[in-house]
Amino acid sequence: MLTGLLRRFSIRTRLALGLSALLAVAVYATAFLVSSAVSNVIASDIHEALRNTTRTFATTVSSMANASVRNRLSAVAEKNLEIVRAIHRRERNGEITEAEAKKLARDVLLSQTIGQTGYLYAIDSGGKVVVHPHKEVVGTDVTDHEFIRTLMKTRRGYLEYDWKNPGDAESMKKVLSATYFAPWDWIITASAYRHEFGDLVSPDDFRPAVNALRLGNSGYVFVVDRNGLPLIHPRDVPSMLGLKDAKGMPFGSRILTERNGSIGYWWRDAPNAEPREKFALFKEVPAMEWIVVATVYTDELYKPLFQIKVLTYGIGTVTLLLMLLLGMAVSRSITQPLSRFMDTVDRAGQGDYGVRVRDAGNDEIGRLSKHFDRFMDQLVASITQLENETEYRKYEAFQRHLFEEVFVNALEGICITDAKGTIIAINPAFTTITGYSEEEVLGRNPSVLKSDRHPKEFYDQMWGALSANGHWVGEIWNRRKSGEVYPELLSISAIKETDGQIRHFVSVFHDMTDEKRKEEQIYRHIYLDALTGLPNKELLLDRIAMAVGHARDRGAGVGLIFIDLDNFKNINDSMGHPVGDTLLQQAGRRLVDEVAPGQTVARYGGDEFVLLLENVRETDMVSFAEKVLHALKQPFVISGTEVFVTTSVGLSMFPQDADDPATLIRNAEMAMYQAKDSGKDSYRMFAAEMNERALRRLELEANLRQSLLKREFVVHYQPKVSLTTGRVVGAEALVRWSLADGSLVSPAEFIPLAEETGLIVQLGEQVIETVCGDIEGRDFPSDFRVSINLSTTQFRQKDLIKSIRSIVEQSNVSPQQLEFEITESVLMQDIDLNTAVLEQMVEMGFSVSIDDFGTGHSSLYYLKKLPIETLKIDRSFVRDIVTDPSDALIVQTVVLMAGSLNLRVVAEGVETNAQADLLRTFGCSTVQGFLYAKPMPFLEFMAYQKAVNT
Ligand code: C2E
Ligand code: CA
Ligand code: CA
Repeated sequence: MLTGLLRRFSIRTRLALGLSALLAVAVYATAFLVSSAVSNVIASDIHEALRNTTRTFATTVSSMANASVRNRLSAVAEKNLEIVRAIHRRERNGEITEAEAKKLARDVLLSQTIGQTGYLYAIDSGGKVVVHPHKEVVGTDVTDHEFIRTLMKTRRGYLEYDWKNPGDAESMKKVLSATYFAPWDWIITASAYRHEFGDLVSPDDFRPAVNALRLGNSGYVFVVDRNGLPLIHPRDVPSMLGLKDAKGMPFGSRILTERNGSIGYWWRDAPNAEPREKFALFKEVPAMEWIVVATVYTDELYKPLFQIKVLTYGIGTVTLLLMLLLGMAVSRSITQPLSRFMDTVDRAGQGDYGVRVRDAGNDEIGRLSKHFDRFMDQLVASITQLENETEYRKYEAFQRHLFEEVFVNALEGICITDAKGTIIAINPAFTTITGYSEEEVLGRNPSVLKSDRHPKEFYDQMWGALSANGHWVGEIWNRRKSGEVYPELLSISAIKETDGQIRHFVSVFHDMTDEKRKEEQIYRHIYLDALTGLPNKELLLDRIAMAVGHARDRGAGVGLIFIDLDNFKNINDSMGHPVGDTLLQQAGRRLVDEVAPGQTVARYGGDEFVLLLENVRETDMVSFAEKVLHALKQPFVISGTEVFVTTSVGLSMFPQDADDPATLIRNAEMAMYQAKDSGKDSYRMFAAEMNERALRRLELEANLRQSLLKREFVVHYQPKVSLTTGRVVGAEALVRWSLADGSLVSPAEFIPLAEETGLIVQLGEQVIETVCGDIEGRDFPSDFRVSINLSTTQFRQKDLIKSIRSIVEQSNVSPQQLEFEITESVLMQDIDLNTAVLEQMVEMGFSVSIDDFGTGHSSLYYLKKLPIETLKIDRSFVRDIVTDPSDALIVQTVVLMAGSLNLRVVAEGVETNAQADLLRTFGCSTVQGFLYAKPMPFLEFMAYQKAVNT
């Protein structure tokens, strides 16, 4: 039952409780035993000492009293002897008779008492009583008493003896002191009862000895007589009789009645003081009926005892505490790992198999923990293994089931053959797709499905892959039972046994008829332009990306030609959308015809097409661009009507202009706008600076437009001087931009911009108008001509002739007075076309000169074909003719060549006389340059001309 009760507490508690209880009992028992043993020893020692003191003292008092009595008795005896002698002397002197003397002596002796009942008597040496207070005794022989016989022999001295008076029941102790008076043969005896000694002794004899005795601090000894009256006491106190202690106990009377013993009582030192326990030991001093009392305060008496107890119990308690701590540590060292172990076991019991005790201890718990941990490890391993196995079984069953399900329900046709290719199983989908039932194909070869779409090599390759890799996947065309050929995605796997031998082939195929159809539709939808059937923007971007990728690998170039139909909107608006659509379709077809089969023509959007040319160089691009311009310029015949379009074309190239598809396209587009801006029907290459310039251009363009409206352009004239006559033979009209602040901007700065923006056309018209206005009505020599510069764009302008003609015709100027300077590079670009334009100009009466000659790479052949009159040697050659022999040679050659072609030569930029002299020796007829005059306003020029020519 106790076990049951204890089991309710944890081991830790039980251990701690048990240990501490045990320890407490042991320690306190030991402490108790030790302390009580010691106490007993000490207490009995103390009692013994006290008792000894008291006893010794009582003995001392008693012996002192004896001595004192003896002295007294002997003194009494001696004194009476003296008295008897004195009486005897009177008898001898004859004053009295012997009888009288004896009678007197008898009376004297009998008149005295010693103490209360002691008396004097005398016997003779024969043992006969001669004097005695009791008359009947006198004359009797008392020799029968022992002490009498002793006395008869000694006749004097001290004796103790027992005496029984007649009539008394008991004998009493008596003492006597005897002297001998020889003349009368009297042995005079003074006797006293021992119990009356007290009366015989003076307490003062003992006082110093008693008072000297000290017990503890404040203990003392005192002596009282049989009635309790204090005989010796350190203090002045009344009778002991009736003395009660602080608790009312009559300890005084008890001492007096008990006479020997000890007593405890409570005593107040002062009337108001706390009562303290006292201990008194008392002893009777025999014969005197005194009582010696030793009294001491208990605590003082037992002080050492108490100290020992305190010490013992103190040590005991400290020991107990230490033991307790030790006990706790010990119990902890057991219970802590135990409870951790139990916790772990609990958790493991709840299914947490991951827990481990990991107790490193070497004790039983540690070993148990290790066993447990090992056990858990094994358990976990077993469980895992079990789970894996179960899982695997389930998986296997599931897989088998799955396979069956898949086999039966698959949308894919499945066909299993043996190693030789004989069909041994097919699934329902096989029948659905091919049309062949099980009976029709089992035992046959899959070649029943073979179409004639694939060459023999295709199948060889397939079987090759199968035997090499055990697997083949690919698209294949097969034939259904109905004879219809269809595409399928076929996967064939060889199934090998463990020995590596192929036992079966499993073919899984998916009928791709629908996918193929959809794919095509989607592809068309996503990637082809519905109207033209050409690749659309997305496909284009794809292909560009691919082309750029290839080109990057091979270090080749990729070119984009961005084509925009110039006035497509007009056609659309004026002739209707169906016409526009047809136009776009035809344009697309023409573009396709222009490019090689591998290249891409895409419809980029609206009326924009892009050609993607792979493996091209810049020069190829230019000729392509020209081919495109040309191809699209040819009239389109739509429902019997001829439709004309021109195009603006922009070119960009990888890697020069960009290396990603989007930027490449953007750049080509930008170049296209460039072409469009510079008068359409032309092409432009993209250059990187174009972007930057585009911004600046926008701003300047706006200013330029404004200035054109406000006619802020002025024309200066630079004279041309004949080297032979020194006369002014003509002038070059040079435009300046006159700003609001009066400053002039050089054409070198704004002509290129005007070119870029196409504003040059309008500007050119204004220059011609101004020149005409200036020279109109002036009196010039017949061969005097003002030459006007025509820039590239101006010259390429379609209605150039028309516009020049109308301006000139509006004035009163004859075409013979005007010359047009066209740069060599412009003229060389499209000789045929240019020749035609120049011929028209010449036909109209204008003359034409080739400007900046020497900078382009003119061939004489072309020069001959062109209807030109004059060559202007470029300033860059003239500048160095004096110093640079090669330049001099070029100029000389040009002059000679010109002469052979019957052309006039004008050298421009002549600044020094040395240059002029050299040119003259070369045979150059006309010069122009700062040596003669800078370009100047018309009126100034007129004055100059007048001054020079007259
Ligand atoms: P350019 O046709 O070669 O014109 C000759 C340029 O040479 C003029 O510059 C002229 O001032 C400068 N010049 C003449 N003699 C000397 C000389 O001794 N030393 C030096 N250093 N320079 C000399 P300008 O007037 O600044 O014109 C520059 C260009 O602007 C012209 O070159 C021409 O191509 C173009 N230009 C000028 N006016 C027109 C115009 O009305 N229409 C067109 N389309 N272009 C024009
Ligand atoms: Ca010029
Ligand atoms: Ca020039």
